[in-house]
Amino acid sequence: MIEAERQKALDAIGSEVAACTRCRLHRTRTKAVPGEGTAATEVIFVGEGPGFNEDRQGRPFVGQAGALLGELLGSVGWSRDEVFITNVVKCRPPENRDPEPDEIAACAPFLTRQLEALDPALVVTLGRFSMARFNPGARIGQVHGTFRACHADSGAPAALTYAMYHPAAALHQGALKATLFRDMEGVPLALLEARRLRSAGPPAAMQPTAAAAGAPADLGRAEAGHLPSRAIQEPAPPADQVEPSVESGPTDQLGLF
Ligand code: URA
Repeated sequence: MIEAERQKALDAIGSEVAACTRCRLHRTRTKAVPGEGTAATEVIFVGEGPGFNEDRQGRPFVGQAGALLGELLGSVGWSRDEVFITNVVKCRPPENRDPEPDEIAACAPFLTRQLEALDPALVVTLGRFSMARFNPGARIGQVHGTFRACHADSGAPAALTYAMYHPAAALHQGALKATLFRDMEGVPLALLEARRLRSAGPPAAMQPTAAAAGAPADLGRAEAGHLPSRAIQEPAPPADQVEPSVESGPTDQLGLF
């Protein structure tokens, strides 16, 4: 897919999300929040669901957690308009409660289609609901700051997923802020690894999937050097800082590692 086609697909999904009545959350929302960013990116950040400010504005991560996400992106030389930012559920759960399983299920096809349109190299999950979509069964306390192959049914079978705590968690537990910034340092490195794996070509197990079949076109995107390619020039983190690790296991279903 060329960039204009990706954008067109994202716009169409956005229009459907804005009019969606698939679950009870549509009754209490002010505005649905499809997500925003550039169709040219290789990196998608996936949060949990809109909060008060997002519901008012129809844009993801515009409140306090969003300000911290902006700082996190800035810490590696990226900005929010150079990535794509969305959520597992596109409408605000009342009083910011956790999304219910049936709400997540009703909204899932929208995220799947966004992933298919973007065909990202890297999916950064913010919080446990997002992590569960790409890395079911994982525990955030164990996997934050690490990357692995996305679960085959996640919608991004040719991507790596990188787990982070939700920025809002650091607003409640100050100690997590340092963890978030340290984990963020690993994101550009995870992108480089994702590119390396994609340029090596999909392993046989990935061949039948539509997304894997589209991989050669995506390599062109990476080589064109659009941002976040700037990350390539970022210096490696000091040796005393945590590097992301690749963990194989039950979630590494594609045999990438
Ligand atoms: N928290 C989220 O998970 N998503 C948003 O868009 C805002 C806050």
